[in-house]
Formats: sequence, structure tokens, C-alpha cells
Amino acid sequence: MTTTRFAPSPTGYIHVGNLRTALMNYLIARKAGGTFILRIDDTDPERSKEEYVDAIKQDLDWLGLHWDQVERQSERLDRYAEAADKLRDMGRFYEAFETPTELDLKRKKQLNMGKPPVYDRAALSLSEGEKDALRAERGNGVWRFKLDQERIEWTDGILGDISIDAASVSDPVLIRGDGQVLYTLASVVDDTDMGVTDVVRGSDHVTNTATQIQIMAALGFEHPRFAHHSLLTGPQGEALSKRLGTLALRDLREQGVQPMALLSLMARLGSSDPVELRSDMAELIEGFDVTRFGAAPTKFDVQDLFPLTGRYLQALPLEAVAADVAAAGVPEDMAAPFWLMARENITTLNDLAGWWALCRDGAEPLIADEDRAFVAEAMALLPEGPLDGGSWGAWTQAVKEATGRKGKGLFMPLRKAVTGMERGPEMATLLPLMQVIRARG
Ligand code: GLU
Repeated sequence: MTTTRFAPSPTGYIHVGNLRTALMNYLIARKAGGTFILRIDDTDPERSKEEYVDAIKQDLDWLGLHWDQVERQSERLDRYAEAADKLRDMGRFYEAFETPTELDLKRKKQLNMGKPPVYDRAALSLSEGEKDALRAERGNGVWRFKLDQERIEWTDGILGDISIDAASVSDPVLIRGDGQVLYTLASVVDDTDMGVTDVVRGSDHVTNTATQIQIMAALGFEHPRFAHHSLLTGPQGEALSKRLGTLALRDLREQGVQPMALLSLMARLGSSDPVELRSDMAELIEGFDVTRFGAAPTKFDVQDLFPLTGRYLQALPLEAVAADVAAAGVPEDMAAPFWLMARENITTLNDLAGWWALCRDGAEPLIADEDRAFVAEAMALLPEGPLDGGSWGAWTQAVKEATGRKGKGLFMPLRKAVTGMERGPEMATLLPLMQVIRARG
């Protein structure tokens, strides 16, 4: 039975980078008919905010990434304490008292000497008396997990065979001086208790994975399968980390990006398969294969989401967008023809209101001086009464006969006079929707 989880820390809004992780885990679970858990990593009471928990759920809901189970680390502190006791009993856990400044100094010295900046385990040689004295002076120490200094190996679902020398990694701090359990420990306890079989996360977690594999082994747990996807960069390969704040899912939603466009892109970007616009989740699940992803950084251009959104909308029937069409102010009896016209001409649903404004109010006519007389003559020939699908043909035929103009010289001035634009919807489709044609005078 496949079980995956998406484990955001509720310290901010989720962005495209998080989405990639969420989506991959979701698709793996769904493809296997398994379970997808939403795990809220909220062991940090200062930075975790309820507001962000709600926002994460809303964003996942918007995308249709529905979870089967929600877990919160803040409700599982007893379990982490048990695991910590076990590690302490086994002699795999030790208290260390260095201040951040001291650690920094040690790192600098090591780097100066050309050595890797790995914690030197000085705390291991403290006597009980020295520890008491340090505790009295500095408060409780942090608890570090004592790594076995051997190679840690696993076959990564994306990166292939990985081998990391534990001697090149600092003994990870699992509990802070104030007693706060850190993610590294909480996550291994959760992954085991919750039967997680597959963990997909960003390649910034590779070293964590190495330490977590050892912690799990120490606790007698089997580790899940791991896969680490590459990190997203901007279109030019530049680091995205600073810009991720502006790529929050709620901002994209605000800009009119459609969930299916976003999901279709993210399910393929960075894989050896081309991006294909999918029309629903079932297709996306069907076409997903995590092993197709590569280790190279993945270029992401937010602009790619707009043509995909446009194409997605173009294929939708009115039923799917009736609420949006109504919200743009379109009366119900005009909704169907309006949508048929609009869907060919919008990038996002945010553009609907502009098209409806054109239909309702007409546009400031765009008339070149040399066309003034021609347009005035043509307007006098515009059929009276309600316009329909045949009106454009009938009108231009009449104008052609009266003026002798044809082709572009006939159509373009009329289009510009009616719509105020050189390009736009099929005139035959648009005309019946125009409540006002300002060039009529
Ligand atoms: N809360 C962690 C993060 O957001 C979870 C990482 C993981 O998937 O294990 O980075």
C-alpha cells in the first residue's frame, strides 16, 4: 500500500516550489490507489501560524489536490519525546552546549585549514560535572544525534544511487535547548508511524535524508523510498529562492492562472516528457512518472502559465465557467454566445470583464481620417434592429455594393470603428453581442 505525504511548515504561503513537491507526492499516491497525507510541520510555535495552515488547505483545495488524512506535528510531541528517550538510552544522543557564535568560529577555523566544516563532537568528551556547570551557566544544551561514521547509501527515485560519507556531515541537532523538537526527528517518527512508503522532496533535503536514514535505523524503523527533485530556477537559470515569495499560489490564482494549467506544467517540467495540457486530474495521474525527472535544476517561467491557461479555457463549455461569466456582468440570455466569442480571445477569466464592457458600452471608434466618409456611409447601412450571426455578412455585402471597397480596405475600417481595435474576435460572432456601437453616432 502506497502512502505519501506533503509536509509544509505553516510559516508562509505555499509557492510553485512547494507545489511541485505536493503534486508529485499526490500523483504517486493516486496512481497507486494509495493514501495522500497532508502533514503540517508545526513544531516551531513561534513561526507557525494558523492563518497559514488555513491558507495551505485552501490552496491545495483550489488545485484539487485533496488529501485523505491531516496530521499535525504539534499534536504528536509525546511520540517524539519517546523516540528521543530511546536514542538517549542507546547512547546515540548527546547534549552539546556550544553557542551559535562558538560553532561559527569552529566552522571558520576548519574552513581556513581546508577541512569540511563538520561539528567536532567536542561535547562528547564533556564530563558530567562539566555538563552540569555548562547547564547552570547557559541553560539546557541541544541534543545531537551521533551518526555512525560510515557511508549512507540509498537508491533515489530520481537521483539514482547515492552514497554519502557520514563523516562529512555534522551530527544533526534534533532537540533545541528550549526543548523544541526539530523537523529531522519529528519527520522520521511520523513517516514511520504513518506508514509512509514514498517521500518525494526537494534536493535541498538530500543530506537530511542521509541522517534520517541513520536515525530510522537506530530506532529500528525501515526507511521509505526517497526521491529528490531538483530545485526550480528562474527562466535564465537564476536562483528562484528570493522570488518565490512572489510566486505564491494565491498570487497566481489572483492573476487568473487555471489550476489545470499550473498542474499540467508542474507534472512535466524537469522531466524528459513534454509538457502536455491535461483537461482533468485523471489524465494527469495517468501520465505521471516520477522516474522521468532529472537531477538538473529546472527552469520555470511564470509566463508559461498564461498560454496554457488560455488553451485550457478555450476548450471549456459554458457550464464550467457560468459563474465567472455571470460575475463579469453578462446577462444570462447572452452568456452562451458571449462565452463562445470570449473563450477564443482571453488569456485568463480576468479578461472577461473587458470583453463584456466592449459589448455593453461599445468602444471609442478608431477611424483614420481618410476613412471618415467611408465609415459614416457604412454606419448608415448597418442593419436596424437586433443583430444576429448573419448581420456582419449582410452589412459588409451592402457596404461593398455601395462603396466598391473590398478585402482589407472594407473590413479593417469597420472593425476599427466598431471595436476600437485592429485585431480581435470574429466580427460575425461579436456583432450580435454588441449592445452599443458607438460609431453609429
Ligand atoms: N517541513 C519540511 C519542509 O517543508 C518537510 C520536508 C519533507 O518533506 O520531509 O521542508
